[in-house]
Amino acid sequence: MRAKCILCDRVDKIEAYSLLAKQLRKKRKMSYLCDECSERISDKTHERKQSANFNLYKEEQTEDYIR
Ligand SMILES: [Zn+2]
Repeated sequence: MRAKCILCDRVDKIEAYSLLAKQLRKKRKMSYLCDECSERISDKTHERKQSANFNLYKEEQTEDYIR
């Protein structure tokens, strides 16, 4: 199936039977991020964590913190 990145509008093909595809179909995960953007965001999160001592570790793993 196809998933559109919410940040850069890039359309990626993802495995139809992958966990991510399943989550998107069930709307458990409303947003898709391409590898590039999720990397960029985890960099930012990392910076923020260092400056504000903000614990986002769990959210970072599921990538749900962007909502
Ligand atoms: Zn993207």
